Amino acid sequence: MNIIFLGAPGAGKGTQAEKVSAKLGIPTISTGNIIREAIKGGTAMGLKAREYTEAGKLVPDEIVIGIIKERLSADDCKNGFILDGFPRTIPQAEALDAMGIVIDKVIDLEVPDEAIAKRMSGRRVCAKCGASYHLEYKKPSAEGICDACGAELVQRKDDAPETVLERLKVYHSETEPLKEYYSGTGKLKIVEGQENVEDTTALTFKALED
Ligand code: ADP
Ligand code: ZN
Repeated sequence: MNIIFLGAPGAGKGTQAEKVSAKLGIPTISTGNIIREAIKGGTAMGLKAREYTEAGKLVPDEIVIGIIKERLSADDCKNGFILDGFPRTIPQAEALDAMGIVIDKVIDLEVPDEAIAKRMSGRRVCAKCGASYHLEYKKPSAEGICDACGAELVQRKDDAPETVLERLKVYHSETEPLKEYYSGTGKLKIVEGQENVEDTTALTFKALED
């Protein structure tokens, strides 16, 4: 099954994508994680992407489309995959279509802007492996330490409050039109994000079965 997660930054797409990934045994592909890795590694792509992400802007389509083309050609995507954070613009969705990729389900995770702003302030990520946590909703076993690898948890630069507002603005103008793009296909499922991660996951699984 080929699945797309849509939704605002901080809506919890990544968390839900991981649950589905574990259940179905297919990989999650997060363009955000790939970009952060490239920035950390100081690659040419990372150097280009950095100014955009830190300002809360989208990285140019050519760059992310290139990332996705390469990643989807890997062997582990043969039996299906989950896209977390791609497509984020109409041209990106068109690029997927042009690649001949058939999407089975598009899960739109809906969370009101006010709740997003609150969630983002509590979000922490592992400085080493990129695993994601939340001070309230997804606490690590030991405060400030990654469960997966033991490294330190930090706040992402683009989770600063001013940047979050910019990211929400970009979401509404660039990404939200994708709901319309996919709604005609009967593949779009709306999931209302709940306070509780497990409750959201139950709704996500249900949406995938419909
Ligand atoms: P979130 O979903 O929390 O906003 P991500 O980790 O998915 O964050 O992405 C972080 C940043 O990486 C985005 O704000 C953007 O700058 C860049 N990025 C990720 N995916 C894309 C994409 N598909 N198109 C353009 N930029 C992207
Ligand atoms: Zn870690």
